[in-house]
Amino acid sequence: MPAIRDDFRSDTVTRPSAGMRRAMAEAEVGDDVFGDDPTVLRLEATLAERLGKPAAVFMASGTQSNLSAMLSHCGRGDAYIAGMDAHCYSHEQGGAAWLGSIQPQPIPNEADGTLALAAIEAAIAPDDLHYARTRLLALENTFGGRVMPMTWITEATALARRHGLATHLDGARVFNAVVASNTDVATIAAPFDTISVCLSKGLGAPIGSVLVGEKDLVSRARRHRKALGGGLRQVGLLAAAGLYALEHNVARLADDHANARRLADGFAKIEALKVTAPDTNIVWVKVPDDKAATFGKFVADEGFGITSGYGGTQQRWVTHLDIDAAGVDRAIAAAERFFG
Ligand SMILES: *Cc1c(COP(=O)(O)O)cnc(C)c1O
Repeated sequence: MPAIRDDFRSDTVTRPSAGMRRAMAEAEVGDDVFGDDPTVLRLEATLAERLGKPAAVFMASGTQSNLSAMLSHCGRGDAYIAGMDAHCYSHEQGGAAWLGSIQPQPIPNEADGTLALAAIEAAIAPDDLHYARTRLLALENTFGGRVMPMTWITEATALARRHGLATHLDGARVFNAVVASNTDVATIAAPFDTISVCLSKGLGAPIGSVLVGEKDLVSRARRHRKALGGGLRQVGLLAAAGLYALEHNVARLADDHANARRLADGFAKIEALKVTAPDTNIVWVKVPDDKAATFGKFVADEGFGITSGYGGTQQRWVTHLDIDAAGVDRAIAAAERFFG
């Protein structure tokens, strides 16, 4: 494999900046399992306040955060509804099922990433002893880099509540949605009982997610976190990176979105490529079947890291802190050379 110079694989590849490393080195710490790490407490309080919820708990990863939340909402034999392409269903080893005995009830995502309200309603099991009890609706925003419409979120969560379901938002990249749609994060969080936020994606922290929500649910999640191996000790070192990220790296997500648009606009001029206009920092590029393998290899040989699926015909280019406009222009120039 040639070395990667411009790494578009994911916004998780960002390395902590000098300022962030300094904040980590200087963090005041304590034993967080005893609840006395002041920096962790400050991070949890900061995110709870920003999202307009009473409580929050630091997690080692988004997967641990989503799983702890699902274990808090559902017991053995309960069911949750999520999109078939939702991260918590399709990209977390099905942990809710094999660790929590929670039955997934996936429904297809529409072309725009939403779930049809009628499909959600149809997936809610009636009160009948043949069926698992439906307990939870789990949504995701952004979804594949798309900002989910607030009207749909409001309707879907209201539908869930009418049927007595709890609601969880996988908001791994919710701050990208905030910046792209100029919506307050508390507005996006309001209709949900729990929200999981990643610090280690576009926000640029090396490790960490935070689960935010109602008090009893967060307390339960804190218990589950311990059982899942996430009871960490002087973890203020990581919380300091999270606090630094919240202070310095939220508004600048707009730069990543601008770079994603620049990349999409450049690729869109190449006739062979079908580019989806990005809402945030993820650009999806459809490559013709007969060029997928050779273009994928060319891109790698030229020093670009990307991810792809469907035999290389669907490419994903993600912009972030460590990708600048020059890197975007290098990618466009390379693609023009290949197809030109
Ligand atoms: C990355 C991601 C997660 C999981 O986060 P990890 O820290 O990688 O476990 C969950 N949901 C979504 C939408 C993500 O993009």
